[in-house]
Amino acid sequence: MSETDNKPTLGRKPLGLKRSVEAGEVKQTFSHGRTNKVVVEVKRRKLIGKPGAEAASEAAPAAEKPAPEAKKSAPPPAPAPKKPAPKKAAPSGETPQERVARLQREAEEERLRLTEEARRREDEAKARELEEEKRRAEENRRAEEEAAKAEQAAAAAEKQAAEAATGTPAPAPAEAPAPASPAAEAAPADDAEAPAPRRFTPVARPEPKKAEPVTAKKPADGGKKASANRGADRKGGDRRRDGKLTVTRALNDDEGARARSLAALKRAREKERRAHFTGRSQPREKQVRDVVVPEAITVQELANRMAEKGADLVKALFNLGMMVTVNQTIDQDTAELLVEEFGHNITRVSESDIDIDTSGDVDADETLKPRPPVVTIMGHVDHGKTSLLDALRGTDVVRGEAGGITQHMGAYQIKTKGGDLVTFLDTPGHAAFTAMRARGANVTDIVVLVVAADDGIMPQTVEAINHTKAAGVPMIVAINKVDKPEANVKKVRERLLEHEVIVEELSGDVQDVEVSAKTGKGLDELIEKILLQAEFLELKANPDRDAEATVIEAKLDKGKGPVATVLVTRGTLKRGDVFVVGTQSGRVRAMNDDKGRQVKEAGPAMPVEVLGLGGVPMAGDLLSVVENEQRAREVSEYRQEQATAKRTAMAPASLDTMFSALADKQNVIEYPVVIKADVQGSIEAINNALHNLSNDEIKVRILHSGVGAITETDVTLASASNAPIVGFNVRPNAKARQQIEQTKTPMLYYDVIYELTEEIAKQMAGIWGPERVETVVGRAEVKQVFPAGKKDKAAGLLVVEGAIRKGLHARLTRNDVIVSATTIASLRRFKDDVDEVRTGLECGVVLADTNDIRAGDQLEVFEVSERERTIG
Ligand code: GDP
Ligand code: MG
Repeated sequence: MSETDNKPTLGRKPLGLKRSVEAGEVKQTFSHGRTNKVVVEVKRRKLIGKPGAEAASEAAPAAEKPAPEAKKSAPPPAPAPKKPAPKKAAPSGETPQERVARLQREAEEERLRLTEEARRREDEAKARELEEEKRRAEENRRAEEEAAKAEQAAAAAEKQAAEAATGTPAPAPAEAPAPASPAAEAAPADDAEAPAPRRFTPVARPEPKKAEPVTAKKPADGGKKASANRGADRKGGDRRRDGKLTVTRALNDDEGARARSLAALKRAREKERRAHFTGRSQPREKQVRDVVVPEAITVQELANRMAEKGADLVKALFNLGMMVTVNQTIDQDTAELLVEEFGHNITRVSESDIDIDTSGDVDADETLKPRPPVVTIMGHVDHGKTSLLDALRGTDVVRGEAGGITQHMGAYQIKTKGGDLVTFLDTPGHAAFTAMRARGANVTDIVVLVVAADDGIMPQTVEAINHTKAAGVPMIVAINKVDKPEANVKKVRERLLEHEVIVEELSGDVQDVEVSAKTGKGLDELIEKILLQAEFLELKANPDRDAEATVIEAKLDKGKGPVATVLVTRGTLKRGDVFVVGTQSGRVRAMNDDKGRQVKEAGPAMPVEVLGLGGVPMAGDLLSVVENEQRAREVSEYRQEQATAKRTAMAPASLDTMFSALADKQNVIEYPVVIKADVQGSIEAINNALHNLSNDEIKVRILHSGVGAITETDVTLASASNAPIVGFNVRPNAKARQQIEQTKTPMLYYDVIYELTEEIAKQMAGIWGPERVETVVGRAEVKQVFPAGKKDKAAGLLVVEGAIRKGLHARLTRNDVIVSATTIASLRRFKDDVDEVRTGLECGVVLADTNDIRAGDQLEVFEVSERERTIG
């Protein structure tokens, strides 16, 4: 018992009494700054020493009280009304022993009394506390209600305040609102009159029953500290405890009510608002979507299609045991699981479902109608292709009528005198012809091979013949420049035989015409023969269907945006048609014919310039009109995905290059570059040219290539990789220019591909660094090995070729396998150090860093020099 009693007491000491108690003094503080010091040490010591005293140390503080009070005149506020007796008895002149005995007795009595009282008070206090809590809860509730009806509340509060003001004479202390429990604790000392300040609550509460002295002690200091409050409390305390209001409290409450009312109003509003919102959002049902899922799809893309969060999908996949990121691709089955988990419906599609497949779409014979032939002119450079085309255009009756307006387009259509239409394609070169064919765009019906009569068969003539044959397209030979005196038509015909082109003149089946682009000779005959050939080919197409066309040329026009010259292959392309072209989609905004006139529709074999594309397609891309924009987007997106996949898969061309790439990964230097050009064709040419610059040690890495002006994105990409930007016939836009300045991105502007590749080759050589060149100086054979110095070995050599010099690099080989690469550390001949030993002589060498030398090894010495590299 005493143990448990002691514990709380000891623990409480620093709280209840100041340190001066231990030193024998108690400093008492009263209101208005008055203080009093009381000596306590004697009594205290005696009391502690007293045997049998239950919790003697606790009793001490209680006992102290009367003593100091007796000594001073100022009435201490703490031991209030009930203690007049001890106070008065004290000063009545007893001996110290008597006094001590009396005090002890008194203390004991007091202690018992206090214990009893404390117990009682505690019970009371508890009951009151409960009541108080109920009251407070009630109050709070009322306050809330009041808050809800703000005006009423204000009125009520005022009324309350008024009542309180009249009902209580003294203002309550700040702690007043929670008087019950402090009052209980303070009770023993204060005769349950005044509540002790709240700060004592935590001390008294834990041991209300066991530690009676605790409560007894508290007032000793509690009273001192809160004396000012107490005076006031004593008057208004009862009323307050009854739940009535003092003015202060009323005011406080009033304030509180006001503050609360505002806050409560806000809360109420917030609550209402929330209820309003949730009320709305809750009935909103989850939309069930039909999710189109291709054979493979990235998690992010699937999330987008499901209108769900990517992270949610990742989480769901995680739960399925798949660790993926949003950027990873998942297969259709996994996607189906996800789609179902999120409560949507899956629509599985395969590649063929998405892309437009025209192979099975064959027009019925009865729908076919004759169409003009498409003629491509090919031949060696300067043999007069362009001149011939121009001359042929000059024969165009329509053009003559229109006043000779010409527009640069890759294709022209002319109307012959007989009213027939012929479409000519101006191919930029044979490679392009084949490239277009490779993309499945075999639009040419007839090839006109131009051979200059004065020049004969030239390399590109042969090329043209081969390309034409490969395409399986009929050929008409136009022997040009026959007006020239040195023209040798006969020779041309004969030379063509060598390439298995047998012209009609030589009783073959290839039509030939002698023409002169300059004089116009033979042009009509050429057209005649073209028409004849066309008739023979029975060229037909169905004009009454959704159009299909082939891109002849595409570029980014400054004013018009992406523009493509297309040749309609079947159907009729109309203004407003929605289409997919390559990886791009669009809607025909406007169409111009080769004479620059706006047209509303274009039938088979008609070349038109189309405006309204989403981006620049590639020459040879197929344009297909589709039912709606959604379909167009779907197809173009799908094709873009495919293109990306293809591009990324393209890098390792073969296992060989893949393995060597893996092995040399560290050694390969990359030269990154961003390419922007005016037309797609230039980009392809530049890409090829740059790839040709690459070798095993340094590679051009094209980070990005595209058609159009240099934009901020390009600059960001380039600067991030420290790459230069190549602008081919294009310039940066204003924003990009700013960024180029900021990032100091190197720019390379060109309009000739050759110059561009030359410059890049130079730059690559620069970062590649100088070339290491080895020059073999001499060879020697190891005849014998002998020790040199303490650990080293020396080799006795016979120089078989060249010379050996000190300090040269050396390679020691054994059975043609390199044993060590080192340098000649020392060179001796008959115990003399020498600088050089020539062929046929014997010498002794010590090799740096190696002693692995055996008789019969071969030594090769060489010089190393550096040389600037050249690439390309
Ligand atoms: P391309 O490179 O095949 O397109 O050849 P061009 O059409 O540019 O012609 C090359 C050169 O040959 C030009 O200077 C033309 O003037 C000239 N040329 C073209 N056709 C004839 C022709 O029929 N007679 C003469 N005398 N010169 C021609
Ligand atoms: Mg030309």
